[in-house]
Amino acid sequence: MKCIILIAAPAAGKGTISKYIEDKYNYKHISTGDLLREEVRKNTVIGKEIKPLLEKGSLVGDDIIKEVFEKEFRKTKSNIILDGIPRTLNQAKMLDSLDNNDGNVEITNVINIDIDKEVAINRIENRLICESCGSVYNKSIITDDKCTKCGGNLSSRNDDTKETFLERYETFLKQTKPLLKYYGDKVITIYNNTSLEDVYESVDKILKGDE
Ligand code: AMP
Repeated sequence: MKCIILIAAPAAGKGTISKYIEDKYNYKHISTGDLLREEVRKNTVIGKEIKPLLEKGSLVGDDIIKEVFEKEFRKTKSNIILDGIPRTLNQAKMLDSLDNNDGNVEITNVINIDIDKEVAINRIENRLICESCGSVYNKSIITDDKCTKCGGNLSSRNDDTKETFLERYETFLKQTKPLLKYYGDKVITIYNNTSLEDVYESVDKILKGDE
C-alpha cells in the first residue's frame, strides 16, 4: 500500500489537493481533522474531550489521534493520502510502524505545501467547506450556497478565525514543520500561493508514475 503524506500550514490547501489526488489517482483520502470534527459533531466521548482543543487551535493528544486514525485506516485497502497527520514526531513514528493485512505501508512521497502566511489568513477568512463531501470554496467567488459537486450545505469551520489561525500556525511551526527534516529526501515542496492549476500540475509531475 502506497502512502502520500501532506505537510502544510493551516489553509495551505491540504484538503483541496487531497481531493484532487483521491479523484484522479484513486487514493483514499484520510483527514484527521475531518475525523475529529465528526467525533465532535456526533458528541462522542472523544468528541466532548477534544472540542475545546479544536476550538482553540491546539493539537489533540497522540493517543486519541492514533485511535481515531487507525480505526479509519483499518477500513481501507487502497493507497492512501494523509491530510493532517502526522503533526508530531510521535505520530510520524506511529505511521512508520503501520502495516495493513497485505504488507507494509510504504510512504512514497511527502509533499510540503508552502504558502505565505498572509495568503493563508485571507483564505481562512473566506473559506467555506461543504458539510457533506468536504470540498473547499471561497466566499468571494461562489454564486450559490450549495456545493456544486454534491449539493451539500456550505459553512465556515468554527476554527477558521484569524485568532485561531495564528495559534494553529504557531503550532505548525513548532511541532509539525520540523517533520520535514525527519522525512529528508522524500520531501517535495510545492507552492500554493497562486493558481490551483499550477499546483495540480506539480502534483501530476510527482505522481505521474501512478496514472
Ligand atoms: P485540520 O482539519 O487538519 O486543519 O485540523 C483541524 C484541527 O484538528 C487542528 O487544528 C487540531 O486541533 C486537530 N488535529 C487534526 N489532526 C491532528 C493531528 N494529527 N494531531 C493533533 N491534532 C490534530
